[in-house]
Amino acid sequence: MRRLMTLFLAAALLMPLLAAAEGMPEWEYPLAPEILRDVDQYLTLTNRKTLLDKKYVPEDLVRMTVRSTVDDPLRKEANEALTEMFLAAEEAGYTLYVKSGYRSYQTQRTMYNNRLEKNHGRDDGLVAYPGSSDHQTGLGVDILNYEWTQKDGMNYRFAATAEAQWMDAHCQEYGFILRYMEDKEDVTGIKFEPWHFRYVGREAAAYIMENHLSLEEFTEEWQAYLAGWEAAGGDFLRLLHDRARLNPVTVIGVGDDGEEELSIYY
Ligand SMILES: [Zn+2]
Repeated sequence: MRRLMTLFLAAALLMPLLAAAEGMPEWEYPLAPEILRDVDQYLTLTNRKTLLDKKYVPEDLVRMTVRSTVDDPLRKEANEALTEMFLAAEEAGYTLYVKSGYRSYQTQRTMYNNRLEKNHGRDDGLVAYPGSSDHQTGLGVDILNYEWTQKDGMNYRFAATAEAQWMDAHCQEYGFILRYMEDKEDVTGIKFEPWHFRYVGREAAAYIMENHLSLEEFTEEWQAYLAGWEAAGGDFLRLLHDRARLNPVTVIGVGDDGEEELSIYY
């Protein structure tokens, strides 16, 4: 009985909303608005023009559960996805190693200043400016094969290894993108890094990799779409609200009286 009543209540709530959605332009971008709303900040863009605050530290950093030469943490969901990716690579015959994960603003600043000192004050672009590093998001990760973990530095030649090629072909299946692509140096401001992968979530990763976009181009593209959609009368928050009500999350639990209880979360 209680379940029926809740369902009636849900139906009654939906009626005026269906009417309210009229008048808004259709949402036609290939990704759902919830993904772009990005409450979990998986799409955070950071570069020399868009700096992260020096106080920004992700709240859900965890210890990495994959093979690594360092003890850097990663954001929880990125670590879970990476663990799956490493297992799949293993099944395909490749052994991967993390070389670098989350890096704090302070660590980045120290690395940057050390590099400047070595170069007599000149920024040679090899160490990212503090606040601009993808590693500060806790979603960026450098991944190598064994041979390359033994070398002093990394360079574009890593792209020729079977491990790099496997990652390039499969990263999006686990929600990762190749953050600094070979032909996007002008856009990203960073040289080709065939070892640097960035977690953005599966849907966004599939779209970005299929369309061969940098995170900069992707961000510009969806923000331009959103601006055009809003100029045509769209209301983003209302759209999200309406969609949440049309796709409520239903949870069946057990109440205090031991009876089955149905809750609907909008
Ligand atoms: Zn990196």
